[in-house]
Amino acid sequence: MNEVEKVHCLIIGSGPAGYTAAIYASRANLKPVLYQGMQPGGQLTITTDVENYPGYPNGVMGPQMMVDFEQQAQRMGADIRWGMATKVDFSARPFKVEIDEEKWMEADSVIIATGASAKWLGLESEQRLNGHGVSACAVCDGFFFKNQEVMIVGAGDTACEEALYLSKLCTTVHMIVRREEMRASKVMQARVLKTPNIKVYWNSETLEVMGENKVDSVKILNSKTNETTVVPVKAFFVAIGHQPNSGLLKGILDMDDQGYLITQPGSTRTNVEGVFACGDVQDKIYRQAVSAAGTGCMAALDAERYLGALEMH
Ligand code: NDP
Repeated sequence: MNEVEKVHCLIIGSGPAGYTAAIYASRANLKPVLYQGMQPGGQLTITTDVENYPGYPNGVMGPQMMVDFEQQAQRMGADIRWGMATKVDFSARPFKVEIDEEKWMEADSVIIATGASAKWLGLESEQRLNGHGVSACAVCDGFFFKNQEVMIVGAGDTACEEALYLSKLCTTVHMIVRREEMRASKVMQARVLKTPNIKVYWNSETLEVMGENKVDSVKILNSKTNETTVVPVKAFFVAIGHQPNSGLLKGILDMDDQGYLITQPGSTRTNVEGVFACGDVQDKIYRQAVSAAGTGCMAALDAERYLGALEMH
């Protein structure tokens, strides 16, 4: 072990959860150090307009919002650094976190805010039109396609929930399901199937998202009949699941079978006392910037309480 730096509160991750934790922890004088990770600002940096975050009456661009969060945290005194956590050792206090495979941090408390990443189909056209009609978040971007035809791919609870959300805004929702059944819970499936403006395409696969600078149609293939169809739509939503960024913590923190960290209900406490988790890495249900920020606040308050109790002993 080379260089070691000791801190009170170490925050890993820089989305709304991490930055909010940094704002609260700074104001509580915990002198937090935050490492931003591979994608500073997190998933919001790959969205465009954000219109559902309270406090921005005219909306805001996702990347700008994350700059605002970062600057606010810095103004409160948070030490924000570029770098990735590459290894952790939570077996004893102080906790140890390796950064960029070269330096170790020691921390009395750690807040995990590493987020989740949307899964993509992996098509070149999907990547090219990302942010121009291709989106992995219907709740974020559906509004921009009000009264238009849209497509969604996926057949889990998220896809069903998002298809239902879109059905209230859009004229027709074309839903692409790769098998002849859905993975979603029966109740969600039933809701989708009885919604008149959701059209389900079973046994179907997306071949290409088409359009010059924005989506204008999608080519799909029915794997049973081998028939290809081009469906004119203005947006293509991908809802095939998320991957929580928790690989680093496998075998160290409790997680569910999909890798989401488990926190004690009503708190951000993990199974390791002094280690807290907030934002999408522990939330597979809501996944909103505002709910992530809310749990970031909770994590800082939980850490403050924990550190306060430590000092009393
Ligand atoms: P899931 O992993 O449950 O579902 C992913 C869906 O995407 C599956 O239908 C899968 O198809 C499909 N899929 C995966 N890869 C591809 C691909 N390359 N091409 C086409 N389709 C693909 O993810 P969700 O995000 O829906 O849900 C995650 C968890 O969160 C679940 O446990 C869910 O129950 C929960 N959840 C609960 C909610 C609630 O209770 N209100 C709301 C949202 C989520 P296939 O079935 O063929 O594998």
